[in-house]
Parts: sequence; C-alpha cells; structure tokens
Amino acid sequence: MSNLTPEDVLAALKTVVDPDRNKDVVVLGMVQGMAVKDGHVSFALEVAPEEGRAKEPLRLAAEKAVLALKGARSVTAVLTAHSRAAASAPRRAGLNAQMQAEAQPRAGSPERQGPAGVKAVIAVASGKGGVGKSTVAVNLAVALQRLGKKVGLLDADIYGPSIPRMLGLTGKPTSKDGKRLQPMEAWGLKAISIGSLIDEDQPMIWRGPMVMTALTQLIYDVEWAPLDVLVVDMPPGTGDAQLTLAQRVPLAGSIIVSTPQDIALIDARKGLAMFKKTHVPVFGIVENMSTFVCPSCGHESHIFGHGGAKETAAKLGTDFLGEIPLHIAIRETSDGGTPITARDPHGPQAKAFLALADRVAQKLDAGDTRPAPRIVME
Ligand code: ADP
Repeated sequence: MSNLTPEDVLAALKTVVDPDRNKDVVVLGMVQGMAVKDGHVSFALEVAPEEGRAKEPLRLAAEKAVLALKGARSVTAVLTAHSRAAASAPRRAGLNAQMQAEAQPRAGSPERQGPAGVKAVIAVASGKGGVGKSTVAVNLAVALQRLGKKVGLLDADIYGPSIPRMLGLTGKPTSKDGKRLQPMEAWGLKAISIGSLIDEDQPMIWRGPMVMTALTQLIYDVEWAPLDVLVVDMPPGTGDAQLTLAQRVPLAGSIIVSTPQDIALIDARKGLAMFKKTHVPVFGIVENMSTFVCPSCGHESHIFGHGGAKETAAKLGTDFLGEIPLHIAIRETSDGGTPITARDPHGPQAKAFLALADRVAQKLDAGDTRPAPRIVME
C-alpha cells in the first residue's frame, strides 16, 4: 500500500515549468481533477485549445516528475482544453434518480477525457445483434486479464444487457458514498452492466438522452481505477445511439465482431464506417462462429462459409484479429455464467480468445493508450 498523497504529487508538479510562461504548472493553475489512490496517480493539465499538442512535452515532463516520487506506481496525465467553467461544474452523480435529468454535462463538450486511472477504453461492437459480440467482449476481457492486465467490463448494450448472465453476476452494484458506484467483481474482472441498474422486466422506454446520461455515468461515476483496459460491450448496430456513444466515450480503439455470413459482413462495414466517422481507431475485425467443431468427433466444418471477415478486413484496409470457432462449449459456458476462458483456460476455444487478446494487447501497447483523441480542436 503506497502512502503517496496529493500534496506529494503537487510538490513534484511544482518543479515542472511551462517554458512558454516560465512558471510551474501548479502556479499556473493547470493541474485539474487529480486522483491519487494506492500509488496510482491521474490528473489533467489544462491548456488553451489553440496550444493543443504543442504541450505534449509538458505533459510528459509532468508524468515523469510524478513517477519519480517514492510510492508512485503509475501516472496518467492527460491534456484537456475544456473551459474552466465546465471543469468546475459539479458532476451529477448517482444513477437511477438522475437518469431522469435532462442536463448533459458532456454533451457537445470538445474534450473526451477518459475516466481517471483507466489507461485505455476499448469498444467491442457489431453491425447487428446475435453475432456473439457480448460473448467476445466477456472472453476477451478475461483473456486480457490472463495476459496480466487489470481489466474492467462495461455492458453498455442497452437493448439486451447480457453481461450479468455471462459472468454469473447477481445483485446490484453498491455505493459507499451515495455518489460513486463500486463495480461488481467476477472472474478477476471489475464489471458493471446497465442491466444491473434496470429491472429486466421493465420495457426499455428510456429516451435516447437518458440512456446516454446513464452510460456516461457508468463510465465516469464508477470506481474503475486502477485499470489497464476497460472493455465496453456496445449496443449492436450503427444507429444514433451507437454513434453518440462512440462519440461520448473516450475510446482508444474498437473491435468489430462479425459472423462469416455476407449479410453480417455488410453490417460490419457499417460498424467500421461509424468508427471512422468518430475518429476512433479500429483495431480490426474478429470472425465469430467461424468454424464449426463437432463436439463428439472434433470434425471441423464451415456452416456459414469461412474467411469472409479476413477478406473483408483486407478489402477495407483494417486488420483481421482472428477467428473464434462455433462450439457448443462457448454457448453453454457463456450462457451459464462461467466464461470458457476462465472455465477451461487451456482448451482450444480459450486459446482462440487468448490469441485475440494478444493481438489487442499489442495494438494497445503499440499505440498511445491514453484516450484518443485527447483534444479535439473545433
Ligand atoms: P450479441 O452480443 O452479438 O447479441 P451474444 O454474445 O449474446 O451475441 O451471443 C448470442 C448467442 O450465441 C449466445 O447464446 C451465445 O452463447 C452464442 N454464441 C456466441 N458466440 C458463440 C460461439 N463462438 N460458439 C457458440 N455459441 C456462441
């Protein structure tokens, strides 16, 4: 347990001088939203919108100065360009009651800063429902964790939240202070589902903005930190709700799940176009239900055809991230609350998910894992 305090961090930041103004970042009032927990530090450096990425060396210097402190285990500094008024506006917290609220504090905000202490948020999306998007999201999350990452899973599938069932979660998330929610825990993951917060029997009659408010809160008002990756199981499809979510959530990258059938691939193309539109990097396409493996004799057959996602990925200039077989064990385990990657970690199905996680981890490690883009100039 580290004893690092916000005061220690501020003292270190006082040694970081902005060469353009010859004063330190603390005196200049640039340090915002600091969080220090168990040696994990995150904060934002507020810069003028026109300064943009020119301040990147300052951000790096700030991270370096804090990381040098005894007890500092990780440091995440991000540049923000939002107005001071917006930054100091109290954020609404709590969920159900506030879902009714009309205000959208981040709507139209030029910045898409990620939740404090979360290094990267990635989306698992699909052009249509039923292709195994949630199954892939759950098993990818468990597999990333097996690669040594701290992983969270946010079920944002407002149309059919299935993560509680797939992880075997029961009950509801709690809050210690009545403001921020504690994520639930399963299989070593921190997880929260929009499904835990709604009555399953109630029809989904929320209007779009309310859903967006709820999802924004599930990103920002949950005690996720510290996390290496937060995997978001997106609602299927490429309509307005998905587009708004892709814009609202600070995504470091996205993964599109498709089945081999042509029709699903057409939908996958739409998914790709959606992320391009929102400037979210697409890590690539995964082909799910790729090869059918007979559970009794092990014979492989290609019921829906095979290799379509690979071809589509190549045609569209995006990466092919791998294929997941169609196997009864995947369905039984994911519907039974014990993901195959946790239940049979050395089996062939888990291996397919581990290979996928490996590629995703490489993409995350190779790129800038901070929420991208950190500053959107408008
Ligand atoms: P989506 O999130 O795209 O709607 P789900 O992940 O809920 O899809 O999957 C739909 C159904 O298909 C579930 O019953 C799930 O267990 C099953 N399923 C998904 N992927 C596979 C697979 N590779 N092999 C066998 N069953 C699968």
